[in-house]
Amino acid sequence: MEPRHARYPFFASAREAVRESGVDLAALVADGDPAVDRGRERVERALTEGTVEATEPREWDTRDELLSYPIARILVSLLDSRAAVEKYAEAEAATAHRRFTEDLHQARDDGARPDPARVDQPALLREFDLDGAVRVEDPKPGQVEGKWLWLGVGAYLSYVDPGWGDDWRLVNRELVDGEVRTEREELYRLLREAVEDRVGDGLPFEGVGDELADELEAEIGDLRDLLADRSVAADLDVVAPEHFPPCVGKLLGRAQGGDDLDPYERFSLLAFLAGLNLDADEVVALTGLDPGLVADRFAYLRDDSGAQYPPPSCRTLGEYGVCENEHNHRSVAPHPLEYYSRKLREADEVVDWRDREHTDVGDAPA
Ligand code: SF4
Repeated sequence: MEPRHARYPFFASAREAVRESGVDLAALVADGDPAVDRGRERVERALTEGTVEATEPREWDTRDELLSYPIARILVSLLDSRAAVEKYAEAEAATAHRRFTEDLHQARDDGARPDPARVDQPALLREFDLDGAVRVEDPKPGQVEGKWLWLGVGAYLSYVDPGWGDDWRLVNRELVDGEVRTEREELYRLLREAVEDRVGDGLPFEGVGDELADELEAEIGDLRDLLADRSVAADLDVVAPEHFPPCVGKLLGRAQGGDDLDPYERFSLLAFLAGLNLDADEVVALTGLDPGLVADRFAYLRDDSGAQYPPPSCRTLGEYGVCENEHNHRSVAPHPLEYYSRKLREADEVVDWRDREHTDVGDAPA
């Protein structure tokens, strides 16, 4: 098992390394191996943060990191949810994209001292059978390396997504002798799509044994809870911060006061507000959070089809340390949106925050 396998566990050579090691994944799970914890973290962060990076990379060695990938695939399969598969594959691809972009930039900067954990462009292209499909355009005089490439149209069309916009449409591209003129960073975007296809391929897989499913029951319960029930978010689009549940009210108050929220807290607040159909600008106005950060998180919380990522449930917020379950109200409303919905029904009059004269704060519960 090599560091590069841990960095790119979906590469064919990494899968081969796992196979050759003879590791029994069921035994790893039964023994509570660290790779299982890292696999759970991998999926959890994919669902909540859109990344599979470890929060504490130094906790895990090459073996843990590599074996966490097949464990994560088992967990995602047991979740048996299309949304979970999509979020997971997107997160693996986003993480890989960040890593290989860094590797390729570094390879150009370092020249002769390649790091064996990192990947270079020929190896990356070979991995996806694209080595014969990419031709570097001659650099202009004085340039060491040009930014333009020519990519075989078949390869281009295999990975381009119609949802990326008009710039990607073939009619708006230079197409000469079966090659499409492509910027280097665009090639990386296409490679990210290739990673996503590869990771998602075959998921969820059938045939995870009952024994393994039983052993992973606790992990699956936690991850299911993270996915929560999308239906809870339906039909709630009134924004009345004074009726927000205590957990969200406190996070909102802290954000408005300029406190740094940790990633889980920020995710919890933004997912709740997105569940009320606030757009990113409205969230910035309400919370005072950085517009770039909100836009970035919203791109993850809402996909291009408008599908909404569900806000975390009370149980999950309890595990994040966000919830204090005052007066045991969780027993009557196990989801913050459900709590909020009850409060709205009980209120005599509700004026939407967006329709008030002063829409900046003071409206949130103390
Ligand atoms: S029980 Fe639910 S709604 Fe109440 S504070 Fe905890 S997470 Fe929020």
